[in-house]
Amino acid sequence: MTTETLTNKQWRLKQRPVGEPSAETWEFTQAEVPSIKDGQVLIKIEYISVDPAMRGWLNDAKSYIAPVAVGDVMRAGTVGKILESKLEGFEAGDYVGGYSGVQAYDVSDGTGLYKIDPNLAPLPYYLGVLGMPGMTGYFGLLNTGEPKEGETVVVSGAAGAVGGLVGQIAKIKGCRVVGIAGGPEKCQFLIDELGFDAVIDYKNENVKAGLQKACPDGVDVYFDNVGGDILDDVLTQINLKARIVICGAISQYNNTTPVKGPSNYLSLLVNRARMEGIVVFDNAKEYSVAAKEIAGWIQEGKVKVKDHIVEGIDTFPDTLMMLFKGQNFGKLIIKVGD
Ligand code: NAP
Repeated sequence: MTTETLTNKQWRLKQRPVGEPSAETWEFTQAEVPSIKDGQVLIKIEYISVDPAMRGWLNDAKSYIAPVAVGDVMRAGTVGKILESKLEGFEAGDYVGGYSGVQAYDVSDGTGLYKIDPNLAPLPYYLGVLGMPGMTGYFGLLNTGEPKEGETVVVSGAAGAVGGLVGQIAKIKGCRVVGIAGGPEKCQFLIDELGFDAVIDYKNENVKAGLQKACPDGVDVYFDNVGGDILDDVLTQINLKARIVICGAISQYNNTTPVKGPSNYLSLLVNRARMEGIVVFDNAKEYSVAAKEIAGWIQEGKVKVKDHIVEGIDTFPDTLMMLFKGQNFGKLIIKVGD
């Protein structure tokens, strides 16, 4: 196999955005794919995960992971096929997951690379329900939310990659599940397809009034994907010893003003409740156990999967923005194409 004729397409960070990323944030580059050396593999990337976390990785700030450096290929979770290997343990034809970034090909030394089986599940699942978002929902809900049968679990971003799974796992655990999502189509889907007990359309309803109606016994677990006003509203409805899982705060990621914190936090004191942040990577050693259980639920029809696949790596800057406009319906993924 010769790599001489292959041209890579890459999206690089050109300058750090203030507020929303824009055309000025990115640079599109093309370059010949280099030949691999001993200890390397060449991967043709097939699918790229587009995640809200990408916005945080653009900030030059201390976080759970280093920011993407200006000039670098944008970090992204990926799945692809090995075209050529000079690395022990990997062969041409193997499918692999990893963090190859927003590009069409990757020459890798194997760091962070793991084999996946395209016969066990469709490739996009490895970026969604069986990948990072799936692991986030699974461990965040079960280990930090600790839902018990009969309890009420509220989840925001409920029609998204993480939220959709959280609600379905909470149903499996015997909870009353209330989803918060934007728009009638997403809300109807949560009831009809994912089996949620109640929904609140935060774009068209008063969230606090919606919670009072949908959670007559109060809120025991709140899985927060959005932060801001919705977190504040849920705090007014929590029960004694409630658990608030701080998974994300997408409503705040593009703020140019300080992040809006929960002014109702004293509800934690009154209710002896706890609010705890989670980072999915802390559970890396147990991913395979979780993926096996989730795959079993999918097979049994207890977990339904919704991916939103956009064609073409060229679309990356616009596709990323879909997350912040609520334009994705399910796990957002780019299909790289030829
Ligand atoms: P997602 O829910 O599939 O997509 C993002 C969704 O956020 C949009 O579809 C939109 O849904 C909603 N949204 C956007 N702006 C909003 C706003 N101003 N107010 C309320 N909702 C808004 O994304 P995901 O991948 O599943 O991620 C969900 C959250 O989990 C994010 O906050 C992400 O950062 C976090 N996360 C954390 C970890 C971790 O380790 N802590 C790991 C993965 C993800 P609507 O149409 O319903 O508005």
